Amino acid sequence: MTGFASLEGKVAVVTGGSRGIGAAIARELGSAGARVAVNYRSRREGAETVAGEIDGVALAADVADPGEALALIERVESELGDVDVLVNNAGITRDTLIARMSDDDWEQVIDTNLRGAFNTCRAVSRKMLRRRAGSIVNLTSVVGLHGNPGQANYAASKAGVIGLTKALARELGTRGVRVNAVAPGYIDTELTNVLSEEIRGSILGNTPLGRLGRPEDVAAAVRFLSSDAAAFVTGEVLLVDGGLGM
Ligand code: NDP
Repeated sequence: MTGFASLEGKVAVVTGGSRGIGAAIARELGSAGARVAVNYRSRREGAETVAGEIDGVALAADVADPGEALALIERVESELGDVDVLVNNAGITRDTLIARMSDDDWEQVIDTNLRGAFNTCRAVSRKMLRRRAGSIVNLTSVVGLHGNPGQANYAASKAGVIGLTKALARELGTRGVRVNAVAPGYIDTELTNVLSEEIRGSILGNTPLGRLGRPEDVAAAVRFLSSDAAAFVTGEVLLVDGGLGM
């Protein structure tokens, strides 16, 4: 019994599902009834644990690599069936001020966060168009909307994800494929546990709900957008940030 925003009978792929927000999304989609492919890059054990909890499969792929991203989608199709839901969650940061930002810092972040989302969207697009169904949810960030010092690469990648989302929403909408983005504020994961107490304090001071987010807060929004409960929602950027970015 999965109730509201059921994903019963659907096949979902979550990139970067070995930990943090991606792991919470995989669990949420699994508990909504989907068969879930939990992608990871390096942490196989984490991805296998998550997949084991929801009767899914753990699949390795570096989504920044177009060939690996395509192979990932093809493996999902052969092991679970055609993809109904794609969640582009894999993401990294390489924070530093622009004067010190290396080409490598720039390229790795753009390649993973933006090119990775492009690679998997392209890989699922043909079949989704043919089947006239599908839902794609891309993880962006409040930083992609408002910027942040020391995150030129990350902010550019996440702003790019919003452009990608809206372009694809227009391009694929007439064939019934929806494309949305979720923009988390600060969520308690490995990505943010490097923040100093001072920065944490200032974030909390600017967050009306007065706390950091939990991965489960983001997962619930992704489940909604993935499901037929959001059948008339496309091109949307849903902030899940306790009010930080409004
Ligand atoms: P984590 O650092 O906790 O986890 C990142 C995940 O991405 C891991 O599963 C990692 O896999 C995977 N990953 C990284 N690079 C690749 C790659 N090239 N190919 C496949 N998988 C990859 O991050 P969060 O859970 O905090 O963040 C998840 C998403 O949410 C990101 O897109 C992030 O930008 C976004 N976000 C996070 C916020 C936050 O406050 N935490 C705020 C706003 C947005 P592995 O473990 O195998 O290395």
